[in-house]
Amino acid sequence: MKSREESIDEFVQRLPKTETHLHLEGALPWRLLCEANPGKYAHPPDSWQPGFRFRDFAHFEGELLGYAEDYFKSPERYHECAKAVFAGHVAANVKYLETSFASGCIDFMKLDGQEVCDAIRAAVPEGLEVRIFLGIHHDGWTPNMAPVLERALCWENLDGIDLHGPEDAPLGDWSASYWKRARDAGKFTKAHAGEFLGPAFVKRCVEDLGVSRIEHGVRSIEDPEVVSFLRDHGVDLDICPISNLKLGVLSKTTADPIRALLAAGIICTVSTDDPISFGNSLGDDYRFLADGFGFSRRELAQLARNGFEVALISPDRKAPHLATIASMV
Ligand SMILES: [Zn+2]
Repeated sequence: MKSREESIDEFVQRLPKTETHLHLEGALPWRLLCEANPGKYAHPPDSWQPGFRFRDFAHFEGELLGYAEDYFKSPERYHECAKAVFAGHVAANVKYLETSFASGCIDFMKLDGQEVCDAIRAAVPEGLEVRIFLGIHHDGWTPNMAPVLERALCWENLDGIDLHGPEDAPLGDWSASYWKRARDAGKFTKAHAGEFLGPAFVKRCVEDLGVSRIEHGVRSIEDPEVVSFLRDHGVDLDICPISNLKLGVLSKTTADPIRALLAAGIICTVSTDDPISFGNSLGDDYRFLADGFGFSRRELAQLARNGFEVALISPDRKAPHLATIASMV
């Protein structure tokens, strides 16, 4: 008797995976938010419905900040959240994770950023490599936060920095030199771009901030010259398909920017961005590419492979996962 064909979900579960674009505040498990606020969050939000679309970035960010304000009241809460999130990744066969926490959130909640960073690191379980990033808004260099951002370059448990927040806010003059000093201090740097602004801002982040990894970047496809520029500079894009769908980014660009970017030779990876807002898991994002855009198992495996290619771990540690992926297609 012929054995039953493995489903896409089973295939994706078995794939060793990475996630390189995950906001920790945006990954807060709904259960923890409910437990911390009895009665306030009786039902998951409408934004988890497949057909839901946010009106704009402000609509999305407003809801997310509401959840964050109700939960992230201490470094211990960050630890509890990270522990639950990381356990979910281990269960989903994710081997490598890059997650960020927001400097704006620690400022607003009056938390010690280094304690938060250490609390996240202390939650890392066996079997999952985690790199921790500090997310900074375009106007994040405030009198209050400047000394914190300065000290952050010496935090042992901080692996890098990321540019966050509304893309159309003016990017402060301080940013280029800070991003460079971060690299000089041994931190990896990346930036959100090409989600709400077009290709020109993606190029600017590479040129001015000196990043080699762009979070999102899907709108780069609108300008072939920028696509060539990214390929020539070896810039990778950490793409979040369901986030792009629910925030209306996909409707601004070609129907299938991810395949078009891959075909143009750009290394793309798959992540969830903010699951508390989109109601998605990493498996859902892979399945969305299979069901919505016809990605084959070989193509899904290529995306998983790309995640290990860009991972900030030694070739020795990537090798067993790449070998497993190779054996599956
Ligand atoms: Zn993001």
